[in-house]
Amino acid sequence: MRVFVILPAAGLGTRMAAGQAGAAPKQFLELAGTPILIHTLRAFASVPDVAGIYVAVRPNEVERVTAHVHEYGFAGRVTVVEGGDSRQASVANALAALPSEADDIVLVHDAVRPLIDAATIQRTIQAVEKHHAAIVGLPAVDTIKQVERTADGALITSTIPREYIVQAQTPQGFRYGLLRRAFAEAKADGFVGTDEASVVERAGAAVAVVPGSAANFKITQPGDLELAEFYLARRTKG
Ligand code: C5P
Repeated sequence: MRVFVILPAAGLGTRMAAGQAGAAPKQFLELAGTPILIHTLRAFASVPDVAGIYVAVRPNEVERVTAHVHEYGFAGRVTVVEGGDSRQASVANALAALPSEADDIVLVHDAVRPLIDAATIQRTIQAVEKHHAAIVGLPAVDTIKQVERTADGALITSTIPREYIVQAQTPQGFRYGLLRRAFAEAKADGFVGTDEASVVERAGAAVAVVPGSAANFKITQPGDLELAEFYLARRTKG
């Protein structure tokens, strides 16, 4: 059994100010002087079980990312592939490029969650060995409301007990055979999900949850870079 990692990094990052005005998409913005994607690559490359990492990027970024991969010493361990118009399409393209067998494990991780730590990656791999499908999830601390959108905003329709809620993070890991089958079914049905677990859930498989942390957040909006730098500095101080 081998472990492969897919990093979807083909988003436009339109919620980041830098994503507008033709500047770098967020996965190429720098965190403490190093591109976000490189921080993410380092985390996975530090896990000995990981046999190969596949990064999906926009077609016009393949050259730039391949140069980064060489510059930061990942050549040989990292393959750059073209992404698609949705996160699911980007993951599907990388999945098609994997040299995997049914029992191998595939971890999918947002390129823009650079603060993932090796221990959580290892716990996810162990959970996939046991359950065949497992994701990192953050237990909800806020009270969760279901709402109906209205012209003025929203009206609450119910309260969902928070012990029933986790916020899905990544990595999300699966046996390769299961993930391929679930993706094929989703494609045939025209289903597009916002994470891999939703694709695997609808294929009827049980998905386990590994505890996540607030530091493993997705860099989405401009202020998030400062927050990520804060977590990074705290970790370096140890
Ligand atoms: O934009 P969103 O928060 O869904 O992005 C999550 C991850 O999916 C990001 O790392 C982004 O680069 C990636 N993505 C992708 N292909 C797309 C859209 C998003 O690889 N078409």
